[in-house]
Amino acid sequence: MEYSSYNFRPRRKVLIVDDEAINRQLLGLIVSQQYEVIYAENGQEALDICREKGGSLSLVMLDILMPVMTGMEFLKIRQNDKQLRRIPVIILTSEADAEVECLNQGAVDFIKKPYNHPDVIMARVNRIVELSEDRELIRAVQQDELTGLFNKEFFYEYIRQNDRLEEGKKHDAAVINIEHFHLVNALHGMAFGDTVLKEVAAIIRRLAEETGGIVCRCEADQFYLYCDHHEDNPQRFAEALRQLPLELEDARIRVRIGIYPDCDTSIKIEERIDRANVACTSLRNKYNRSIAFYDQKMQETEVFHEQLVRDMQEAIDTRQFIVYYQPKYNVEGECPKLSSAEALIRWIHPEHGFLSPGVFIPLFERNGLIQKLDDFVWREAAAQCRIWKEAHGLSIPVSVNVSRMDFYDPKLIETLKEIRNENGLQEEELHLEVTESAYSEDTKQLIEVITALQKEGFAIEMDDFGVGYSSLSMLTQMPIDVLKLDMKFLRQAADNEVGIRMIEMMIRIAEQLGVPVIAEGVEEEAQVKMLKEMGCQTLQGYYFSKPVPAAEFEKLIEKEKEGC
Ligand code: C2E
Ligand code: MG
Ligand code: MG
Repeated sequence: MEYSSYNFRPRRKVLIVDDEAINRQLLGLIVSQQYEVIYAENGQEALDICREKGGSLSLVMLDILMPVMTGMEFLKIRQNDKQLRRIPVIILTSEADAEVECLNQGAVDFIKKPYNHPDVIMARVNRIVELSEDRELIRAVQQDELTGLFNKEFFYEYIRQNDRLEEGKKHDAAVINIEHFHLVNALHGMAFGDTVLKEVAAIIRRLAEETGGIVCRCEADQFYLYCDHHEDNPQRFAEALRQLPLELEDARIRVRIGIYPDCDTSIKIEERIDRANVACTSLRNKYNRSIAFYDQKMQETEVFHEQLVRDMQEAIDTRQFIVYYQPKYNVEGECPKLSSAEALIRWIHPEHGFLSPGVFIPLFERNGLIQKLDDFVWREAAAQCRIWKEAHGLSIPVSVNVSRMDFYDPKLIETLKEIRNENGLQEEELHLEVTESAYSEDTKQLIEVITALQKEGFAIEMDDFGVGYSSLSMLTQMPIDVLKLDMKFLRQAADNEVGIRMIEMMIRIAEQLGVPVIAEGVEEEAQVKMLKEMGCQTLQGYYFSKPVPAAEFEKLIEKEKEGC
């Protein structure tokens, strides 16, 4: 079935403004064939109607010489009013009226009195209404509704055209990001989050005006700016940041800017923005700096990262990735008891040698490859758990790390169950570690999936607890079986009393939530003693063992069998 767009169109409204009744009626007769007509006798009445009806008016047909308020005065007021400016105006003229001035004041067309050609009038009215609606549609497609800034597609297209027109000119690309914006929303509500976005957008828009640039809002809290290259741009940017009302209603808002100065315009605009983004990302969690520049070192890192991404699939196929295991010990009794193992990936790269996960995991988390790698680790770890069980008659549950990205995979639960079943593991033999910061990103979705996993018998360990900024109320909603205290706290406790009290507090929180605590990064005997006294049941760290390959882990199992 073919739809005519006309079917969806309500009857449009046209406002006819003329002080002479006969003129109003004549024109009304013509226009009302296709439009609903409203009448006003002077500019003031027209203004009141426009304000009342606002967006529902499609056109104003305006006489110039009228008592109370002339057509020209109406046009001037309309020009300065953002809402009214959207309604197009056709001027109804006799020879004597000032056509040029009307055009300068924003009128779009003229119709001459007397009205001798009704079909010409209708054709003009239809054309103007259509043009104006098309313009509105384009505006809606180009613009982000909340901030009024352009959207990403328009921004890129504009720069592509600009590239052709301004060959040889120097430009800077910048990415501006609000730190922990999801938390601003979570803690202060969406309405407040919107206010923050609008404030930030207004500042960036001014910055764009000053630097001859264009700006867009790309995602929730991410803005792009592309402007003329000036040596003092960094100072201008810094100055603009200082204008931010940093303490909006007690919430501290922090904005990061990554700049790619004097861009290489031979690469695509998307890549120029990517480079600014690399600079911006380098500021994550660096609280003493707000601006970073894309430089030679970042470029080298980028090239290195590109290589890792290219090499990844082959590395899985040729088993360059090796899963290491780090034991966790239960220390409730006199003698520490090997209770489980954490699977931690390593990459023996043919060119770069031994690579720690810190080098490639964050990269793969950013581009989605982590799902493939995690799948590999889960299968390896589950198979290893079975091998130990069969060889030693001993159940050593393994914990695998589950990345935030994995939760967007609709097959996650199915995959994990399949892995557990294929290896004949009991429910309690495969644990899942989920980093605390993952919980704060898309809380609702994550809670749903994790609750479903828990129902399937997977034990959920909240990893890196204490650095993910969960509030207490958030914690109580989260499905957790175990809290893994981030090792940062043990480091802090080494040289100050407050650090020790922090750990005590974390353990109390876990008690409140009714879950046991695992302390990570335990390196010294004194720490073991302290944590035991505080009631921490399970410890993991170099004091017991570094992460080791499976063959070496066997020795720990052998030792365990020998007893204390
Ligand atoms: P994590 O899950 O919090 O793992 C604990 C990290 O602390 C490991 O670093 C471990 O080697 C290290 N560690 C353990 N005990 C000590 C200690 O006593 N002292 C010190 N200084 N460090 C200790 P690693 O293996 O470099 O892993 C870093 C992070 O990479 C992990 O943190 C985890 O977030 C991620 N990761 C590792 N393997 C995987 C994986 O297979 N999948 C995913 N998604 N992430 C992984
Ligand atoms: Mg972990
Ligand atoms: Mg951890």
